[in-house]
Amino acid sequence: MNLVAIVGRPNVGKSTLFNRLTGTRQAIVSDEAGTTRDRQYGKAEWTGREFSVVDTGGWVVNSDDIFEEEIRKQVMLATEEADVILFMVDVKTGVTDLDEQVAKILRSTKVPVILCANKCDDNVSQYEAAEFYSLGLGDPYCISSATGSGTGDLLDLLVSKF
Ligand code: GDP
Ligand code: MG
Repeated sequence: MNLVAIVGRPNVGKSTLFNRLTGTRQAIVSDEAGTTRDRQYGKAEWTGREFSVVDTGGWVVNSDDIFEEEIRKQVMLATEEADVILFMVDVKTGVTDLDEQVAKILRSTKVPVILCANKCDDNVSQYEAAEFYSLGLGDPYCISSATGSGTGDLLDLLVSKF
């Protein structure tokens, strides 16, 4: 079955989207960065097409170095096992160093990458999201995992990559 990996730094909303796509509350959503332990797999379906989703996380925060290394590992794993990668960033914080590090890895993978700007809860956000173009992965796709806004179009795009 096709596998979609959701990657990105902590707190951007990966688990919130995972839960929405899989229709479960399997992944822990938290205000505290780094609360998703281990990789969480689930099943999703869109317009009759089934696929698996993996929510990446699994880091224990000790030091910044370990933290970055753990994210790098998760992203590398995603490039090995996934058919499509959803790279999530947060429009409320804008581009961060960690976003740039993840983007650097993803620019060199053959796996299709969809850059997804989360927390676009209002109409203004899509203009702010334009800054993510600098990550070199194309135009960002604006969604709100919390309200579901934009997720239908995102899923249309996603299943077209299989
Ligand atoms: P993860 O660490 O990437 O898995 O992020 P989480 O899914 O745990 O979410 C981190 C925080 O962002 C939580 O407080 C969520 O409620 C919040 N969040 C997630 N999606 C959205 C969104 O679309 N809009 C807003 N405003 N907050 C969101
Ligand atoms: Mg999480």
